[in-house]
Amino acid sequence: MATRNKRKQPVGQPVSVVTGGAGFLGSHLTDLLLQRGHRVIAIDNFVTGSVENIDHLAGNPNFKFIQQDVTEFIFLHEPVNYVWHFASPASPIDYLELPIQTLKVGSLGTHKALGLARTKGARFLLASTSEIYGDPLMHPQTEEYWGNVNTIGPRGCYDESKRFAEALAMAYHREHGIETRIVRIFNTYGPRMRLKDGRVVPAFVSQALKNKPITVFGTGQQTRSFCFCSDLIEGIYRLMMSSHSEPVNIGNPQEMTMLQFAEEIIRATGSKSKIVHKPLPQDDPKQRRPDITRARSWLKWDPKVSLGEGLEKTIAYFRQKI
Ligand code: UDP
Repeated sequence: MATRNKRKQPVGQPVSVVTGGAGFLGSHLTDLLLQRGHRVIAIDNFVTGSVENIDHLAGNPNFKFIQQDVTEFIFLHEPVNYVWHFASPASPIDYLELPIQTLKVGSLGTHKALGLARTKGARFLLASTSEIYGDPLMHPQTEEYWGNVNTIGPRGCYDESKRFAEALAMAYHREHGIETRIVRIFNTYGPRMRLKDGRVVPAFVSQALKNKPITVFGTGQQTRSFCFCSDLIEGIYRLMMSSHSEPVNIGNPQEMTMLQFAEEIIRATGSKSKIVHKPLPQDDPKQRRPDITRARSWLKWDPKVSLGEGLEKTIAYFRQKI
């Protein structure tokens, strides 16, 4: 596809802007970029991000933090080589509570982040999601699948904002020749998830550590597959550095039911918790597993961290937070 923007290859130290840089994934990405020699400018408004996730970077001369809502114009004096657009509420209870902010950051925020990339001649990566497949009728999900989304349902604000963001990224790519990358992130877990973000990993682990009932929604026959954060960030880094503007799924294809997952958490924590069932939220996808053929062949990427290993690190993190 056309590449007409005034692209600047990094000559000295590469400079990256990470929106949502104080979030769960944004902060892990920031750490990886700093390790790989980038200067990082992180932007976050702390709606769901946390200062604790970036505290350890205070005083690092290669790190700069800007507290800003990325739906507002992003003005930076310095050159930028890479824009990583990670800002967004990402857990179902967050985007149910913040539907308008979720739609705004996926639409207006993506517009501002793409505008920044265009002005600076930078490469742009969108953190998209498996949610764009909705409640998928194709299993496992390949990138060619167009999805099955209820636009007006409770998850529509997130799914549609990310679908719009993908469309906008492709429009900037085609119209302005911006180098764009789209990663579709499947369920990911690890340290720095918020204890109360409502997602299944922090929910089950904190319930198990307190020996409280594990709340399985519905019958628990719905499936997910969980990727440890370090694996995911490595895949995303490789995608940015690749030449592929088509979307790429990144996730761990090891699929399990939520009932099996609850049992695994009880085992891994040594908890006395019992499983209880709660109503299944509306439009909760029945099955989800990434087809990662593209990531394997284009990026030579495969997840390396086993569920046992990843859970051990995650449980240790939550133990000190409880
Ligand atoms: N879930 C559950 N109990 C909880 C939280 C979530 O059974 O306390 C289920 C939820 O219904 C879904 C799966 O776990 O089927 C994953 O939910 P999560 O909120 O982590 O994200 P999703 O994959 O739905 O975006």
